[in-house]
Amino acid sequence: NLVASSAKANAALHLSGVIKRFGGHEVVRNLDLEVRKGEFISVLGPSGCGKTTVLRMIAGFEYPTTGRILIDGRDVSRLRPDQRNLGMVFQSYALFPNMSAAANVGFGLKIAAMADRDIQRRVAEMLELVGLTGLERRFPYELSGGQQQRVALARALAKKPAMLLLDEPLSALDAKIRLSLREQIREIQTELGITTLFVTHDQEEALSMSDRVAVMNSGRVEQFGTPLEIYNRPATRFVASFVGTLSVLKATLLDPASGSVEVATATLKNLELPQGLARGDHLSLAVRPEAIRFGARKGDAILRGKVTGVGFYGSVIRVRLIVGNETITIDTFNTQLSSPPSRGQDVDISIDPKSMFVMRAE
Ligand code: ATP
Repeated sequence: NLVASSAKANAALHLSGVIKRFGGHEVVRNLDLEVRKGEFISVLGPSGCGKTTVLRMIAGFEYPTTGRILIDGRDVSRLRPDQRNLGMVFQSYALFPNMSAAANVGFGLKIAAMADRDIQRRVAEMLELVGLTGLERRFPYELSGGQQQRVALARALAKKPAMLLLDEPLSALDAKIRLSLREQIREIQTELGITTLFVTHDQEEALSMSDRVAVMNSGRVEQFGTPLEIYNRPATRFVASFVGTLSVLKATLLDPASGSVEVATATLKNLELPQGLARGDHLSLAVRPEAIRFGARKGDAILRGKVTGVGFYGSVIRVRLIVGNETITIDTFNTQLSSPPSRGQDVDISIDPKSMFVMRAE
């Protein structure tokens, strides 16, 4: 297959059959991943799923038990970290506390024996890139968390690495800084066109920043796709529940041919069903909070429920509803809801059958 092999040759990063065991415990299981030049990739998953171990193997802090890691077509699997030409940013800024911002950024260049004048020029360029011009002489303790992390980013980029590896770089920052740094990192990454791998447990970060997201669970990548694919067409039950909010209704299949099912208070029609189901099978119907509307709309699945909670989140109003025995969550733009329902009220809701994921009940 010519197309596939040329894609491989162009891959900025290629993990092939990578397994990592600690003692008898397999924490990364047969991982295959190809990243294109200039892509921003997130590795997303819950604590302990193995995402940091993947990053540490790419960086060279761990070696794979089996399998290969190629960067720009070169097998780096057994090379030391300093032989891989990578830039790294960690959660704990890891700046040298006794060095100014400028000295931190220039440190690697000095080690690489770059001429002083070139170092000065590069450091100025990098600090400008991250918006810290004027703070060159400050020491880390004189900088905010967000500024320290921007110094760390400038330091990681100073040697013009082949790839940038980011290990939860925003987790230690407060919410507002985290949001603005997200955008800044993505802007800088796009400007430089540098291939980037970002490890996070925060689905919102992964969805909002990435070209593609690899969702990991117990050592495996369960889905590798664009944020929209991951959100709209989750490949597994785990991906569906880990990414985004999902309400699940229990249902029983009435007729596989017409896709009709029975839910607590109603019969729903025209659902897209997975293959191989039979009449009477127990199903789970999953739906995103923004795919549900208040009121009875023709052609949609109409259900009736009781409001148990109303939360105001600025642009969005989040309503919890009991339908049968299940709690479901509905998000509506503030501007689209003239008067939010109140607790205890009985309301009709409508769901477009096409926006439901139908799964076999567990
Ligand atoms: P977190 O977000 O909590 O850091 P993670 O998804 O990054 O989690 P890893 O740090 O990659 O997960 O760890 C995956 C598994 O490997 C965990 O069960 C962890 O305990 C184990 N592990 C990691 N490093 C080692 C090690 N050096 N020796 C033994 N076990 C390890």
